[in-house]
Amino acid sequence: MVNRKQVLQWLQAFATQIEQNKDYLTELDAAIGDADHGINMVRGFKKVISQLTDVADRDIGSILKTVSMTLISSVGGASGPLYGTFFLRASTVAMGKHELTAQHLGELLQAGLDGVLQRGKAQLRDKTMVDVLSPAVVAFRQALEEGKDTTAAMQQAVAAAEEGLQNTTPMLAKKGRAFYLGERSVGHQDPGATSSYLMLKCLLETLE
Ligand code: ADP
Ligand code: MG
Ligand code: MG
Repeated sequence: MVNRKQVLQWLQAFATQIEQNKDYLTELDAAIGDADHGINMVRGFKKVISQLTDVADRDIGSILKTVSMTLISSVGGASGPLYGTFFLRASTVAMGKHELTAQHLGELLQAGLDGVLQRGKAQLRDKTMVDVLSPAVVAFRQALEEGKDTTAAMQQAVAAAEEGLQNTTPMLAKKGRAFYLGERSVGHQDPGATSSYLMLKCLLETLE
């Protein structure tokens, strides 16, 4: 089970991780983009944290919807609408709920990923956040089918996410700004995949 308090802790932990990795994310984006991913994410999540006190006693769906609306309105670039869509779709699974079962969490992550796929039209191996989110969602659901509990399933998801993240380095970018670099995008880890990995790692740490 994941309760509302844990969801708030997850968002707080992710905001802190983003802040601590601001320069790192921006350096990764400097290599294959426009050097603003850390700046974009910090701006968005600072705003998210300032909004959370207003919705802290509401259901998980309402909390996640606030995250979504805040990101969409405060983050420019590709990552704002994409993370905004992730949290918007995730919120629909959690609407009215104050606790999530492992099954719900699997559905929530799947819904978030589906939103990113529809919005960004990226496929696996295009060198984007999808290369982290997709294997993580598959691993989570597989672990549940094997009878694992929420934390153990999330551990498997984060392991798959880490592998997915490392796999972005040799990839040739097919989406986002990095696409315009062609072969020069090869040999660099994707910034959005990196922030998505941090998001999932923070979720795991909240459950442990
Ligand atoms: P921008 O590229 O507009 O400056 P950011 O730097 O904040 O935005 O985010 C870049 C990240 O967004 C990339 O590293 C990649 O992971 C992700 N991204 C870009 N385009 C797409 C897309 N079409 N689908 C999924 N993710 C994408
Ligand atoms: Mg950028
Ligand atoms: Mg930009």
